[in-house]
Amino acid sequence: MTTKKNVTIYGCGMSGLVAAINLAREGYEVTVHDREKTYGGDPMYNPSAHTTPILPKKVSDYIGIDITPCFQPLQHLPSYFHETKVEGCPPISGEYTVERGNRPTSLDSYLIPIARDLGVKFEFNSPLRKKDIPGLEPGTIIACGLTPEVYDMFDIPYYRWYGWISRGEIGFSARSWLWWDEGNTEYGYLSSINNYYFNLLFSIKPVSKEQLEKYKDFMKRREGVEHKEWHYGGGAVPTIAPDNPRLIRKGLIFCGTMSGFMEPFGWFGINGALMSGKLAAMAVSDPAKAQAEFADLSRYFYNAWWVKNKIWYPYLRGHIGLFEKVINLIGPERFSRFLAKYINEQRHVPFAIPGYANLGARY
Ligand SMILES: Cc1cc2nc3c(=O)[nH]c(=O)nc-3n(C[C@H](O)[C@H](O)[C@H](O)COP(=O)(O)OP(=O)(O)OC[C@H]3O[C@@H](n4cnc5c(N)ncnc54)[C@H](O)[C@@H]3O)c2cc1C
Repeated sequence: MTTKKNVTIYGCGMSGLVAAINLAREGYEVTVHDREKTYGGDPMYNPSAHTTPILPKKVSDYIGIDITPCFQPLQHLPSYFHETKVEGCPPISGEYTVERGNRPTSLDSYLIPIARDLGVKFEFNSPLRKKDIPGLEPGTIIACGLTPEVYDMFDIPYYRWYGWISRGEIGFSARSWLWWDEGNTEYGYLSSINNYYFNLLFSIKPVSKEQLEKYKDFMKRREGVEHKEWHYGGGAVPTIAPDNPRLIRKGLIFCGTMSGFMEPFGWFGINGALMSGKLAAMAVSDPAKAQAEFADLSRYFYNAWWVKNKIWYPYLRGHIGLFEKVINLIGPERFSRFLAKYINEQRHVPFAIPGYANLGARY
């Protein structure tokens, strides 16, 4: 009788679960550990609603799990440059919303029973700690998301982000927006799905209460939305270095956002997390093939990293007013039509979302 090989995964988020399901199907005995007391991730962020460019059917085919029921196409996604509204700013084609966390309607709640039915075991309240690292078996999968302590444990460089968060039930779905202003280095956005919203105003520098008040005022006037409660949070994002994307480090397999398989301009992480779950599972049996596939699917990362870090932050980010002037000179509607014609229809997503462009072309 042959004994099944064991694989240990740390992190019961979306990428850890995709890896677990794929490995269990291949006959591995899989145990998933998570530091929280149940699935659904960090309670600082989740439950949450995310907006993301993705091709749900193609990603489903790639990862071998039909995740299409969890994604809803967006009905409303304006970008505001201060007060100037542009419909359909990139990346627009294929914008969806998806829910994370442990509510019954989330992606996580969808994946957990699939994993359980395949015999995947779960150990909650079981964090990976620095002192555990020397004892980890080669091939252990690390899928701990955006948790700064874990990046520190493995010396993975990251941006620290800070932000004001609001979330809860709301009377609409599949509606999002983006708001650009000089007072924070990233943007403010709302995502909504299943009558649940997530709103984040974030930056790689601390975000003041005054900036939050400015955002709240904008939301009320332009989108007619107010939230009662906001809290301050933060985390890590591995988009600071051009060589952040790495599947294998010192014999351990990195999975999800921890592997750097994230779009480095807008920090879209959903597409990459799902696909890297499949790649991490592949790396257990065929690391060379998985690394080649990982490199191929993240090959535009460097270009987008360069634009964001060498052009956008130093020269453009501080001049939202200039963008506003140019858009108003062209005319916001004409500008929207230009985007629709040359970016949406032709699917020229000008970002390096790992796997996204390639999925359109290759799979
Ligand atoms: C606030 C916020 C908003 C975002 N918004 C968007 C968006 O709108 N669109 C988009 O495309 N992307 C967005 N992202 C990025 C996207 O959510 C992530 O890239 C993606 O969810 C990461 O998936 P993952 O599988 O790598 O990690 P996760 O799904 O986050 O799972 C990580 C798991 O690891 C566990 N864990 C952490 N530390 C330990 C430890 N020491 N030991 C054991 N377990 C541990 C956590 O509890 C969690 O369950 C956002 C991220 C954040 C934080």
